[in-house]
Amino acid sequence: MKIGLIGLGIMGKPMAKNILKKGYPDLLVSDLNKVAVDEVVACGAKAATNQEIGEQCDVVLTMLPNSPHVKSVMLTPETGVANFMHKGQVFIDMSSINPVASKEISSALAEKGVEMLDAPVSGGEPKAIDGTLSFMVGGKQEVFDAYKPLLETMGASVVRCGDVGAGNTTKLANQIIVACNIQALAEALTLAHKAGVDPELVFQAIKGGLAGSTVMNAKAPMMIEGNDKPGFKIDLHIKDLNNALDCAHSVGAPVPMTAEVQEILQWLHNHGKGQADHSAIAQYYEALTGIQIGR
Ligand code: NAD
Repeated sequence: MKIGLIGLGIMGKPMAKNILKKGYPDLLVSDLNKVAVDEVVACGAKAATNQEIGEQCDVVLTMLPNSPHVKSVMLTPETGVANFMHKGQVFIDMSSINPVASKEISSALAEKGVEMLDAPVSGGEPKAIDGTLSFMVGGKQEVFDAYKPLLETMGASVVRCGDVGAGNTTKLANQIIVACNIQALAEALTLAHKAGVDPELVFQAIKGGLAGSTVMNAKAPMMIEGNDKPGFKIDLHIKDLNNALDCAHSVGAPVPMTAEVQEILQWLHNHGKGQADHSAIAQYYEALTGIQIGR
């Protein structure tokens, strides 16, 4: 099977390496960043133009920042990858984008007989490197069944959630839960510090109980150390929550918690923290109280 992958950033690069390592050596890649392309080519991939990827590959994968990037790479008149694709090929978008955009891209491709899955992931860079991401997938069952083994080269869990758009709707649900969890954790550790109880001991005492979570295990130590190295960047989380708010408004779902945490993320962006890890939500509370959570 010939595979094309466009987008070799924090996530796409290790995902490409896992595709190569786990039984799919015929991989064409492209990115605006030549250094990233060279690194993946050194592992066995071939550099290609978007036209070559569209013409030659059985399946085209993308791992790009957001809806406008995926739409532009795929659907730009004359130069977009879709112009070069034909009936029987498949497009799998692994980026986290607005589910409305996934449906638009799918409809445009359907006119050419090209099937699409939207297959965003959770897990971040460490799981992209390990090949243990969680995929949430939207699209036809038979397309999902045919390409599940390919996604399993990059992920430990690959679940079909419904038709096209369902993958990104599930991802929005994931991003709401993660952001609100981080906010609750930052708020709670700030309270502990202000009340004179060591946040590290609070974390140790409660992590095994009902409040414990994957988010707490990953982010409490970062807040306590004052470490905001990404991980998952504030600006990407703002992008995801904008998509969540857009989607919620269009389907009539109430999202007051999402709106609140989005304002905190936006405040952090405005204070130069857009490239920091989303655990830097703690720094909003630190700025309000004048404390440092772990110190
Ligand atoms: P990134 O910014 O590191 O990588 C994006 C890549 O796309 C860059 O290398 C950029 O050069 C390339 N690109 C942009 N426009 C392009 C174009 N027109 N043609 C070719 N290449 C182009 O982003 P990332 O962290 O790898 O995230 C990718 C997607 O995965 C996003 O939707 C993000 O929300 C999602 N995601 C990220 C994480 C994470 O922890 N980083 C976790 C889960 C999901």
